[in-house]
Amino acid sequence: MNNCNDRTGTRIMKRHFALGIFLFCCCALPSQGGEFDAARHKMVETVLSDTAATSSYSGSSALSPRVVAAMEKVERHRFVPTALTAFAYFNRPLPIGHGQTISQPFIVALMTDLMKIEEGDRVLEIGTGSGYQAAVLAEVAGSVYSIEIIEPLGKQAGKLLESLGYRNVETRVGDGYYGWPEAAPFDAIMVTAAASHVPPPLIRQLKPGGRMVIPLGTQFMTQYLMLVEKRQDGSLTTRQILPVRFVPLTGGH
Ligand code: SAM
Repeated sequence: MNNCNDRTGTRIMKRHFALGIFLFCCCALPSQGGEFDAARHKMVETVLSDTAATSSYSGSSALSPRVVAAMEKVERHRFVPTALTAFAYFNRPLPIGHGQTISQPFIVALMTDLMKIEEGDRVLEIGTGSGYQAAVLAEVAGSVYSIEIIEPLGKQAGKLLESLGYRNVETRVGDGYYGWPEAAPFDAIMVTAAASHVPPPLIRQLKPGGRMVIPLGTQFMTQYLMLVEKRQDGSLTTRQILPVRFVPLTGGH
């Protein structure tokens, strides 16, 4: 299952660049947010059909209405580099600089849905990247804490989220492996880079009854998106959801 691999993003960018420029010139994609609504709605339809097509893996043939509403609302074109605006509503990962990517919309929606976030929940995201996933989380959660290890990306995403009016998102630059202990415990934790194991600090910062979604595996092996649930007694259950390809979780750990 393709998602946020940078090389994949670059290949896609090359493959679609000429077509994108053509569409951009012919259709004169407008710069006003509201005028991207039709493209975004089409993207959401594709996400819904991918959700149905992968239901045997994920166990869910439909997304919750709140997640669908968030995907309809968040303007992905605000989070991609200006040169890639024409590709913003393709169901594809895209490069965002520094060798990183904004994740594929289907994966963003699926990961959000798997966490079963309720209004008022506290959510931690590891890997702010462009800030797009944080914005989607902010639409369904009470508060979102997001950590990015690459300083320019983290700062840029923080400023963008603030300028878009997301008052319930806090960002910080640092190594997300260690979580955000001062803001813990969290109802849900999402890791958007592939780790070799579930970081113990994140398990500690998850509430009993909480859920974590995390891609596990290395760059050179099959990675699986995993759903980790913490029972009331603190023990864990894990479920393999589907094969994915993410950029690696880096840092000094
Ligand atoms: N969620 C992002 C978005 O919506 O654009 C996409 C995330 S991208 C696939 C993965 C991100 O994780 C990259 O920006 C990368 O720099 C970041 N990352 C990798 N290791 C990290 C770590 N240890 N702590 C925090 N962020 C990390």
